[in-house]
Amino acid sequence: MSEIITDTSTSLLHTEHLNVVYNAGKQNEMRSLQDVSLDIYREEFVIVFGPSGCGKSTLLYSLAALQAPTSGEIFCNGRAFSQMTKKDVLLYHQTGMGIIFQAFFLIPSLTIIDNICLPKLFRNEDKKKRREEGMELLKRFGILEQAYKFPSELSGGQKQRASIARSLINKPDIIFADEPVGNLDSASATNVMAILKELNEVDKKTIILVTHEPNHLPYGDRNIFMKDGKLIREEVHKEKRPLAPAVTAVPKIEAEKRSPELEMLLRSFQGMPQEQVSSLLMPYKIKQMMFHIFSEITEEQVKITEGFLQEYLFQNLNREQLQTMLDTEMTAGGASWNARRADSFSHRVDDLVTLARKMKEKPEETKNDVGAYLNKLFDLQCNEEQMARFQSILNERLENKIDTEGLNHLLDLSWKKGGLGIHKFTARRVASEVEIICLIKY
Ligand code: ADP
Ligand code: MG
Repeated sequence: MSEIITDTSTSLLHTEHLNVVYNAGKQNEMRSLQDVSLDIYREEFVIVFGPSGCGKSTLLYSLAALQAPTSGEIFCNGRAFSQMTKKDVLLYHQTGMGIIFQAFFLIPSLTIIDNICLPKLFRNEDKKKRREEGMELLKRFGILEQAYKFPSELSGGQKQRASIARSLINKPDIIFADEPVGNLDSASATNVMAILKELNEVDKKTIILVTHEPNHLPYGDRNIFMKDGKLIREEVHKEKRPLAPAVTAVPKIEAEKRSPELEMLLRSFQGMPQEQVSSLLMPYKIKQMMFHIFSEITEEQVKITEGFLQEYLFQNLNREQLQTMLDTEMTAGGASWNARRADSFSHRVDDLVTLARKMKEKPEETKNDVGAYLNKLFDLQCNEEQMARFQSILNERLENKIDTEGLNHLLDLSWKKGGLGIHKFTARRVASEVEIICLIKY
């Protein structure tokens, strides 16, 4: 199994020995990118500079997962594109990045506001809300009055501002720009460059801009010079490489009753889209699951198993494959567990994750499933009346009306006093199971 995670704490985008070759082996073979290894850090404004034909666009489209490399690998947030599912790539295209082109690529038959909201349409979002957000962006970029016009009625500068608005509509962290001002007069060009600078400095977007115009170089925090498909040197104006492994940026998760550790983690993710938070929380989730479910294996086995759990959570392994890998000898790349343990562990993880995923998608419908799951897992043997009370206590926690201590207390509290009256030890384990479900659903 290949390792798909690099150091997620440092670079946002990372390429390793990237090669893009057109017409390989033929007379007209063109090596557009040659052995390009590169890091882009969060919140950087990076300019890729070089003469026409040196491979700038090819590099940009590779980073945008729009161009598959001939060889080498590209990582975003530590995840290799080649290992992502189609759905992951779609999500990256829809919400992880926005892109603007020299030729704008606005759809001539749609009004400006419809053009801008188009990327939202694919995400099945409410039409009214979609429009409101689109209008906000038009206002911000000074083209509100153009909302119901068609692209042909706009000036070049206005069209480019509209296409910037479109790239921003799904709130991506990364903006790719391919010669965005190449077709504009100098006043409009300056205006568009200033907008990109503001998006970087104020909105904290990571900007990767391709240009052959030396006048743009002062805008970059870091400028990368290319020639004949190769990186030849870089110039750092403003150092934005993280000093210590740290994640900047944000979750759209409501304030809930969470453990202090999770609280701290989430705070450090302020501003990031949910999908990204979810990936960044992965190591924490994995650790918690490991400690929670199982603690009788060696450190080496823990490490190997964490790798498998990660593949499982990214849905690169299904339950059966997880079980097989756990049950395989370490010398053959497995975790050297015994068959029974691998079987029970993989089922346990699978039950937990399936429930947590359902909980995330359909929280209302899943509450009773959580009750039934806990009743069975801990062999609570609740009768109908007890089950009803258990469920109402549990719902308090699932709706975040009480915290984990509150849940623990009510489970332990005697029946007469309105609790469930189960043993202290069991109450603790049930409460802890509920926390894990709540964690994994993120
Ligand atoms: P830049 O953006 O720096 O002008 P490109 O990345 O567009 O450069 O192109 C780099 C080289 O690759 C150029 O020589 C170009 O002709 C060639 N190239 C780009 N796309 C293709 C393709 N689809 N087929 C063949 N050659 C290509
Ligand atoms: Mg180009």
